[in-house]
Amino acid sequence: MRRKRSLKIVATLGPASSTYETIRALFEAGADVFRLNMSHGAHDDIQVKHQIIRDIERDTGRSIGILADLQGPKLRCGVFANDTEELVSGESFRFDLDKTPGDLKRVCLPHKEIFDALEPNTTLLVNDGKIRVKVKDCGKDYANCIVEVGGEISNRKGVNVPDVILPVAALSEKDKKDLKFACELGVDWLALSFVQRPEDVIEARELAHGRAAIVSKIEKPAAVTSFESILEVSDGIMVARGDLGVELPVQAVPPIQKRLIRGCRAVGKPVIVATQMMESMIESPVPTRAEVSDVATAIYEGADAVMLSAESAMGDYAVEAVSTMNNVAEEVESDPNYFNVIAASRSRANTTIPEAITLAAREIAESTDIKAICCFTDSGSTAVLVSREKAMVPILALTPNVGTARRLTLVWGLHTVVTNTVSRFKLAVVSAARAARTQGFASEDDKIVVIAGVPFNTAGSTNILRVAPVDEKQIFDSEAD
Ligand code: ATP
Ligand code: MG
Ligand code: MG
Repeated sequence: MRRKRSLKIVATLGPASSTYETIRALFEAGADVFRLNMSHGAHDDIQVKHQIIRDIERDTGRSIGILADLQGPKLRCGVFANDTEELVSGESFRFDLDKTPGDLKRVCLPHKEIFDALEPNTTLLVNDGKIRVKVKDCGKDYANCIVEVGGEISNRKGVNVPDVILPVAALSEKDKKDLKFACELGVDWLALSFVQRPEDVIEARELAHGRAAIVSKIEKPAAVTSFESILEVSDGIMVARGDLGVELPVQAVPPIQKRLIRGCRAVGKPVIVATQMMESMIESPVPTRAEVSDVATAIYEGADAVMLSAESAMGDYAVEAVSTMNNVAEEVESDPNYFNVIAASRSRANTTIPEAITLAAREIAESTDIKAICCFTDSGSTAVLVSREKAMVPILALTPNVGTARRLTLVWGLHTVVTNTVSRFKLAVVSAARAARTQGFASEDDKIVVIAGVPFNTAGSTNILRVAPVDEKQIFDSEAD
């Protein structure tokens, strides 16, 4: 199965998407990476979903990425007896430390430190800012509030207190446990919430110890300020617009999104645009025009991936939300102007040999009738360099490393294929040609570009480029070895 787009789609799993059938339907509709949110769902629930994804991977023969999102120092309310309540503007509502399930009048806010920091007139925002309450009076274990803007509140919704700085560690004890659990399970990516400093990322990186790659979620003003140094120690970035639009004025989000995407493209690290992309599809089978436009904008900006949160986790139209994103991507990417926009914003490659080779691969492929660029990659770094060039030609990333294939599912344009280890370039060409044919990218009469590092198994050694026939007999007949 091949996608007809370069953009990748990340879909969050939740109660609306927990069975093999639904998750498989999401995959077939276009989800390339599944997000497991460690804030919701216990370890055994996460483990079941993880296993279902691996089963689908086995049954379809396609690598699928799994991203575990660590809660980080995010404030969340507790659970409700009825799972959800509708807060009414003008009524009072209480947060306290009592673990009893909440109701229309109160709920637990299990963060002791917050009550120490609250004062009358402090504003609390719930559910990405949709609900606003103001503190009337408070003590060391409660806050009585007035609902200024009502709305639906449900289990474990996020709570922001933008006016107050809370002294919290980047990785809580829960995060450390979740990180260990996720790494042992074998997830491909870890997303870190509320990163503020590069040190936060380094700490998680040490704990992950190479078992999973790290995406830093940019959702704090401090992270925006230190973006470059955070990017340097991260493997990817998420523009986490939900909390970002609460911590900063909403109108600050679009320029930040542009800056973050540009920064990631310059260094060749994947960037995900997240939150409220198809929000109305939680309840509606069709998106608003504004949502379609938002997804299209992210694609024109050159984001690697767009993400669905509640739409696929708890929405009534999870599969439709994925296929809508898929359709938007196919349409945008077939717009002749898309190529111009991407080309105009392409950052110049540096001058290492692998970068020069990947740049040459793109230029050859785009200026002649080449059906695909096939690259051999072990750690994935060569494939990411090819992706960075944003060629308007399909890219096959061939790797003997299953973990690499899975991680690369998040990266723009990469169709990953797990191959046997090859020891000679000629055999690599044969294997690339076969993959291009069997995966539906080229036929016997076509040509492909193959790039690799020779000798094999040396990281960062990309040094060879060949324009090769897809026809195996011709490969063997040619003199090159
Ligand atoms: P984050 O800040 O990490 O994005 P979130 O609370 O916004 O956290 P999302 O993963 O973006 O969570 O999902 C949006 C909503 O979908 C959640 O607020 C929650 O109501 C629901 N949801 C997601 N995953 C689950 C799950 N596994 N179980 C229950 N509800 C879930
Ligand atoms: Mg968030
Ligand atoms: Mg969210």
